[in-house]
Amino acid sequence: MGCFAEGMEPLLGARTPMNRISGRLSSASGETKRARFHEKVRRIPFFLSMQACPRRCVYCHQGEITGVSSAPSPDEVRRVLASLQGPHEVCFFGGSFTCFPPDLRNAYLDAVFSAPSGSSVRFSTHPECISSGVLDSLARFPVSMIELGISSLDDRVLKETNRGYTGDQALSVMKLVSLKGYRLAAQMMIGLPGQTTESSLEDLRKISSVPGDSPITLRIYPCLVLRDTPLSLLLAQGRYSPLSVEEAASWAGMLLSEAKRLGFAVQRIGLQHTESLAANVVAGPYHPALGEMAQSVALVTSLLSKSSSGPWKVERNQLSLLHGHGKFGIRLLSDRSGLTVSCVERRIGISQLTPYSTLETTTDSCAETKT
Ligand code: SF4
Repeated sequence: MGCFAEGMEPLLGARTPMNRISGRLSSASGETKRARFHEKVRRIPFFLSMQACPRRCVYCHQGEITGVSSAPSPDEVRRVLASLQGPHEVCFFGGSFTCFPPDLRNAYLDAVFSAPSGSSVRFSTHPECISSGVLDSLARFPVSMIELGISSLDDRVLKETNRGYTGDQALSVMKLVSLKGYRLAAQMMIGLPGQTTESSLEDLRKISSVPGDSPITLRIYPCLVLRDTPLSLLLAQGRYSPLSVEEAASWAGMLLSEAKRLGFAVQRIGLQHTESLAANVVAGPYHPALGEMAQSVALVTSLLSKSSSGPWKVERNQLSLLHGHGKFGIRLLSDRSGLTVSCVERRIGISQLTPYSTLETTTDSCAETKT
């Protein structure tokens, strides 16, 4: 699923401290096999769109997502990296990196050695193009993370989307990557043809069983209908119904809650905005704040698990998740609790008392309920 190339976002929720990640990497055999993880490393992405891709997934029109239709050559990458100051994590996104012929793949990886000392490389790739031999061939490069485009582990969904593997095969590849000592990221999707929220949750539980000391990183992308894709044809034929923005936020928020519980590090929800992508979305939950809305859903779920009718305490920095985007979180809390919006607002307090707060937890009985 290399087509969902994206920017690098702060972690939304990581259970395991980053120093544990460093510890795992540094204890691995072979200094060049796994790069030491730099918590605040700067990143430089290169988009190798549609390069080496072995297939055509129903939703993919990669050039439209990245806004890039041709890839930089290894020499161009080398020149850019040689001009950097300080260590960087070089990111090859947008394609199926290990599907490249070995010579070309190694040329891109060799280019990473032109970057300042301490730099590393991560890439996204298709599970079909990972094997024990491929992973062993990466051992001399400072690979910091391998991102696998998993989409789903549900065989029916994988077949409908033409992903080319079964859920068991994808899971085996994830285990292989992790057992070889590479940090692993899984790119999951929601709203795919034939997919349900239950199958998504089941996918997460299966992925959480992949052995390894460091948390698996997750990216969650909504399925969008892009112009001139097989999915756009299915839409036109009435054989596919995309999620609304609210449905996608609710689905992603539910996954986020479960992912946090299972100890995943969720790195991104939603697609990075590009003009090219925006211009080519035919239908589907394309919204720049989808990730924040999903966090709102997860927060509301958490609040309701503690009390069905409040009062609720939140951290000050969580207030925007309730009040942002037209009070999305407040309205959701109102819908799910049955209380009116104004009543919900009065029942939200800040968990740390401050002299400035006007939002301390109220004792208001707030009997207003919606009819
Ligand atoms: S594997 Fe599928 S989603 Fe990824 S680049 Fe190829 S066609 Fe696109």
